[in-house]
Amino acid sequence: MKVLEGKEVAENIKKDFVERINKLTVKPKIAVLGIKSDEASKAYIKRIEKNCEQYGIEFVLKLAQDKEQFIKNFEEIKNNKTITGVMFQQPLTKDLYNLINELPSKKDIEGISIKNMGKLFVGREDTVVPCTSKAVIEILDYYGIKLNGKKVVVIGRSNIVGKPLIPQLLAKDATVTVCHSKTKNLEEETNKADIVIVAIGNAKFLKKEHIKEGAIVIDVGINYEDGKIVGDVDFEDIKEKAYACTPVPGGIGIVTNALLIDNIIRVCEL
Ligand code: NAP
Repeated sequence: MKVLEGKEVAENIKKDFVERINKLTVKPKIAVLGIKSDEASKAYIKRIEKNCEQYGIEFVLKLAQDKEQFIKNFEEIKNNKTITGVMFQQPLTKDLYNLINELPSKKDIEGISIKNMGKLFVGREDTVVPCTSKAVIEILDYYGIKLNGKKVVVIGRSNIVGKPLIPQLLAKDATVTVCHSKTKNLEEETNKADIVIVAIGNAKFLKKEHIKEGAIVIDVGINYEDGKIVGDVDFEDIKEKAYACTPVPGGIGIVTNALLIDNIIRVCEL
């Protein structure tokens, strides 16, 4: 089985970052807003901060103790004209998550606002695309995997991965099926797919029974098992049957990180 490593894809995305940043007329500065945080999200934020540092992007972290403080932090950031991009740390309650729509859509570096999502669905180019969903497309593109006429099954329908994948896959002329926890006969659906994309948050869920011979599998999942990071795909189990699969770690995650910086630069360019 071919392993679709994310590292070289990420390097390829990053190669013109410095040049693009040098051309900007505003200085990129991002704010990350959240409430408290567990170890996994602390590590994630630390990584974003480090990546920003590498490109001289200013980084502000506002972790609130409670909902009231989050709203106060948000108001402060909203009125701060030097902030070019805002990101919300998940999980958040729906009402807090919706605050992103009160910002100009060009500050929404995760592409989760209604305006950016709407533009993505109608095929407008002046949008910001959610990084993880875009990472899937970038990996497929980089490895020359054509989507035209292919049957793609996406498992997971979240606003940050499953749903934004729909317009991106359709734009490349794939036939798209989206499955979720209420899907009946999931195995039957996935067995018809040329490409299976799994984004559910369930360690080693996808087994060889789920795929047809020669399928391409994209593993978006990040799960912790015995202190180790594992994906939603049972990599060892499918390796004799799949044609190719992304690894976890070292696959989608690393490309997503590069694309977040891409979005930070992009909103300044927009
Ligand atoms: P989420 O919001 O929890 O959504 C999970 C989706 O999976 C839901 O649509 C759910 O269906 C579906 N689902 C759950 N169990 C299922 C099952 N047994 N069979 C079929 N569908 C099932 O998750 P998310 O934020 O999209 O994240 C998904 C995974 O990707 C997580 O492991 C997360 O850590 C990872 N992730 C990775 C990156 C990265 O950079 N690599 C970025 C973001 C997320 P319902 O809608 O019916 O509940």
